[in-house]
Amino acid sequence: MIPANNPSLKSWVDVPEGSDFPIQNLPFGVFRTSYSDPRIGVRIGDHVLDLSAVHNLGFFSELPFEGNDFSSNFLNNLMKKGKNNTTKLRNRISELLDKANSEMQDKADQVLISANDVIMMMPVQIGDYTDFYSSREHATNVGMMFRDPANALLPNWLWIPVGYHGRASSVILSGQDIHRPKGQIKPDPNADPIFEPSRQVDFELEMAFVTFEGKGLGESILTSEAEEFIFGLCLFNDWSARDIQAWEYVPLGPFLAKNFASSISPWIVTLDALQPYAVESVKQNPEVLSYLKFDGNKSYDIHLEVALQPENSSETTICKSNFKYMYWNMSQQLAHHTVNGCNIRCGDLMGSGTISGSSADSYGSMLELAWKGTKPITLEDGSERKFVQDNDTVIMRGYCEANSIRIGFGEVSAKILPAK
Ligand code: CA
Repeated sequence: MIPANNPSLKSWVDVPEGSDFPIQNLPFGVFRTSYSDPRIGVRIGDHVLDLSAVHNLGFFSELPFEGNDFSSNFLNNLMKKGKNNTTKLRNRISELLDKANSEMQDKADQVLISANDVIMMMPVQIGDYTDFYSSREHATNVGMMFRDPANALLPNWLWIPVGYHGRASSVILSGQDIHRPKGQIKPDPNADPIFEPSRQVDFELEMAFVTFEGKGLGESILTSEAEEFIFGLCLFNDWSARDIQAWEYVPLGPFLAKNFASSISPWIVTLDALQPYAVESVKQNPEVLSYLKFDGNKSYDIHLEVALQPENSSETTICKSNFKYMYWNMSQQLAHHTVNGCNIRCGDLMGSGTISGSSADSYGSMLELAWKGTKPITLEDGSERKFVQDNDTVIMRGYCEANSIRIGFGEVSAKILPAK
């Protein structure tokens, strides 16, 4: 067991009951305050541990990290030190925050900042963003609505972890609002397309993982080593405009329907912290090709939910799903991504694809929840939704829970503003 995952650990920093951030989590992020430059922090309870300050006090002297790994705008420098070292770093932070260890307790006012007093920033300088399409239920639902109900799943889907290259420039941090995108839509199938604001703005409930430095061009990552290249995960809302998508996606796949914004949560929960929640993957049939075979538990039991909040109204939870429903796991995705020799760099972001379960309340998009507008969702304030309306806020949350330990991701939230 990774020492920092020990369920019996308690911190001298107060962690409120039900917090996403007990001492067993210790996710990494980037923050600034009204009086300081960006730096790396670790979340514990309602506080942020300033790793730059901890480093300056000499508490990481046994570890191969330097000042600019922590006094940095992004986690990339730290991630470039590789998995062995970031695992050691998290274990050391756990030691320093352990109630049984007095080393740093009298320095609390120098290293801890209230989470209310920090401004979170983009955690990672994302080089490339790839989005997969790995939920069988989602792919089936979309296939039924967009193409052919009798042949909803395309013949390649059970053989290939289907994916496409997205756009890194429009990956944004939770809390940044988005204007409704405009584009070509074709509301009347028998008429020419028109240029207008999208009428079918949608969210996609996803998780994303962030990579360490991968292998070079021409090399491949095996499923057995793939997790060594994954630093951690965050919540991911891959915003989509379904009417733009339906018209533009043939033959090269989505383009402007997807690249106007994708929102991520600010705290990267390490794959180390998720180890206690590894579970068996969905049984795959037909048997996958040899490079996609894997041993052990490579899926993760992460409860996910989506809430929609209209302006000046309360939230309604409209979806409850789970990351473990994915047909293709992260190890298979990374093995497939590199099997042709494609190189992976430190700070690449890989989206899981929309995570839908088998029940109608576990679908990870409005497209599916309201079944292409034919079954509108009723919110708690009595209003109905087929898609996301102007001034609606979409909030996604996720957490693992076992043995009374909750490892949470916080939330990713963003509001859709009217078109410009
Ligand atoms: Ca997506």
